[in-house]
Amino acid sequence: MEEVPATGMCRDCGAESQITQFPLQCEACGSFDLRVLGGEELFVEFLNLEET
Ligand SMILES: [Zn+2]
Repeated sequence: MEEVPATGMCRDCGAESQITQFPLQCEACGSFDLRVLGGEELFVEFLNLEET
């Protein structure tokens, strides 16, 4: 099985952080209030939205 790194989106600043450890923390602002993105599909969708 392929291991897909989980991704979290900060509720405070909107930055995405790759989740590699707990507790989940935003790499940009240091907030602990992250929303975990459900999977690779959602992650790709988010990137596409940003590009357009
Ligand atoms: Zn943040």
